[in-house]
Order: sequence, then structure tokens, then C-alpha cells
Amino acid sequence: MTQKYEQEFTIKPVGIVHAEPSDPSEISIYGLKKDSYIEIFPEYQQALTRIEENSHLWILLWFHQANRSMLKMSPGINRNLPEYGVFSLRAPHRPNPIALTHVYLERCEGCNLYVSGLDAIDGTPVLDIKPYHEGDIIFEPRTPYMPPARPAMRRDRFFKQALEHHKEICIGLWMGVRMALVAEEFLGHLNREDVLVEVTGSRCLADVVQGLSRARLANPARFSFQESSTIQSSRWTKKDRRIELTARSGYSIDQWENGQPEDLFIIQKD
Ligand SMILES: [Zn+2]
Repeated sequence: MTQKYEQEFTIKPVGIVHAEPSDPSEISIYGLKKDSYIEIFPEYQQALTRIEENSHLWILLWFHQANRSMLKMSPGINRNLPEYGVFSLRAPHRPNPIALTHVYLERCEGCNLYVSGLDAIDGTPVLDIKPYHEGDIIFEPRTPYMPPARPAMRRDRFFKQALEHHKEICIGLWMGVRMALVAEEFLGHLNREDVLVEVTGSRCLADVVQGLSRARLANPARFSFQESSTIQSSRWTKKDRRIELTARSGYSIDQWENGQPEDLFIIQKD
């Protein structure tokens, strides 16, 4: 029976990645990726017609350096986590090393797509490009909890998520990122139905906390917000455990990024 499915397909790359990293170890998982561009081969240029009407694209790549025999592994960001099958991971290693990544399209010039957010090394073959549609957005997916092992990487992960959601780097963004890190350390995974979040403060803080916790106003009602220009605080509750963080005032954006939590916040736990 299985013989019927043992087919081989021939896929011709439609383009190639031009990027700074030349080795997979140089790819920063959560850091801001340097700008790169995708060169589409001239015979496919017509397929780019009107592509600039999209801000975001899905890029399908062939990770030519991947290990194709590996079927199970611990996530690369934290080897202390249990093993997952490669179909439950986004690791490059898999039987068919097809990578899927979304990028921001800066501009299209001739056959070149200038993009940001592409996590691929120089010379990676490009298999296909599809537009990212609004219907692709799933605000509150169920996902396994895979916190990175290194604290700096945990911060980078929240910073990247917050920036994708909030679209600007401001004090509210860093305040929300730092609050979520402390709350996560105390309560664990923040995107869970039983984690409730209340924000008092600026709209920027509320937006960032909502983006990181994926807490919605209804169905289920996990999020509430009271606008205030004098208080900046968030309260996170999971069953009978609760942590409240109230920001101290007078810090610069750099201090919000790098300060110690106990200096930045009044922290109450119960
Ligand atoms: Zn803001």
C-alpha cells in the first residue's frame, strides 16, 4: 500500500536568499534580524506582479544544510525541555527541510524583494512565496510552553512578540515586556485560559500586555483595562496565585530595558 505514496517530486527553486548570516549558528532566533533580500530568478519575474500591495509575505525555503534523519529532539532554545517530534517543532531538521517564515516586505525592485525578519542564511533556496492574509491571524493559539533556557533570550522573545503586536518601541513596550517576564517567572505560561490580566495605565502598556498574554476582553474574558496617566500597573492572576507589578516613575527607556525588576517595580505577590 505504502508504495503508492513513495513518489519523488522535483522542485525547482524560484529564487535565492541574500543575507548576512552564512552559517545557521549565526541566525538569531528572537533578535531583530538584519535586512536581507530575496532574488527571484528572471523567468519568474511576472509572478511578482502587484506583490508590493502586501506588507507581509510567507516564504517557503529549502534548508539545504538540515539533518533529514532526525525525527525527535529537545527544542534548540532549551535542551532541558522534553523531546518533541520534529512535526511538533519549528526546527530546521526534518525529513523534508521545507522552512516557512513570515517576513515584512520593505520594497520590491525588479526581481529583488527587500524584506526584514527572514531567518535564513545566505544562499538558501527559495521554493515559493505567498501573501500573508488577515485570515491567517490566530490571536490566541494553544501552544506548548517552551521558554528559552537563557534569560536574555526570554527577554528577546517577548520583545519581538511585543514589537510585532505594538509596532513601536516606547516606554510602554519595555514596561510591558519587563512586567510579563516577572509574571511569567511566577506563574509560568501566560497564554492560558486560567491566567487573568488587569492593566491600569497607558494604552501602550495595555496593548503590549494584551499582545504578550494573548488575553482577550471576552470569550473568555481574561483581560481588563483602566486607562490612567498616573499609575502604570498590571495584575496577573492564576487560580489562587497573584502578582501585581506597579511601575516606579522617572525611568528612561534604556532603564526600562536594562534595569533590575526590583528597582523598576513595586512587586506584590500572594
Ligand atoms: Zn507605544
